[in-house]
Amino acid sequence: MAAGIKDMQHMNIAEVVQMMSETVLKTMPNHYYKIAWKNFLQYMFESNTTITHRKLVELEKKGKVQGIITTNIDCMHTLAGSRAVAEIQGSFGVNQCVRCGKSYNNVQIWNKGKLPRCGDCGGAISAFPVHHHVGLYQDDVIRARLMISKAELVIIIGAQGCYGNVYYNYISQYAKIVQVNPKPTQFDKVSILNIHQEADEVFESIS
Ligand SMILES: [Zn+2]
Repeated sequence: MAAGIKDMQHMNIAEVVQMMSETVLKTMPNHYYKIAWKNFLQYMFESNTTITHRKLVELEKKGKVQGIITTNIDCMHTLAGSRAVAEIQGSFGVNQCVRCGKSYNNVQIWNKGKLPRCGDCGGAISAFPVHHHVGLYQDDVIRARLMISKAELVIIIGAQGCYGNVYYNYISQYAKIVQVNPKPTQFDKVSILNIHQEADEVFESIS
């Protein structure tokens, strides 16, 4: 999805590489937090959510959206107010102490002006995508499979990759697939409806 956070032009690539390094996090915690804040965290906490994010929250409250599956690590759906969100690559809302392994599943620990520390042992806390080198977060992969296997309607918004065995192959044969994407993708041929427009234009018109 096209939220401000994904706008790579704000990012210094060399610093983003360091932000994804647990070695940097452990050996230079202050430096780590500074670059993570500058390149990523400040956009996560200070960007406005998009029309699409907010509309998905409304639709969930009305019982029309049962779940959201995302590969984004920026927690924007959760920060917008969506509840049933499966972050299959984890996010900065899925964290653990690098020393004792205790879990801290709350994105707000990153919004306190310094690197979060474990309440038990004082160790540095690392976000899932950093700790696991952008691996799959199995808890949410399982939730994603459950969500998508029950769905009558699957709306694919702005996605390029298929993630076949991860969740896509779990779509029921009876489900209808609708795609919202300005560009053609591999999903064009499986969708009963392709809306080749930006997600915000489409969701703005839904009441
Ligand atoms: Zn600890």
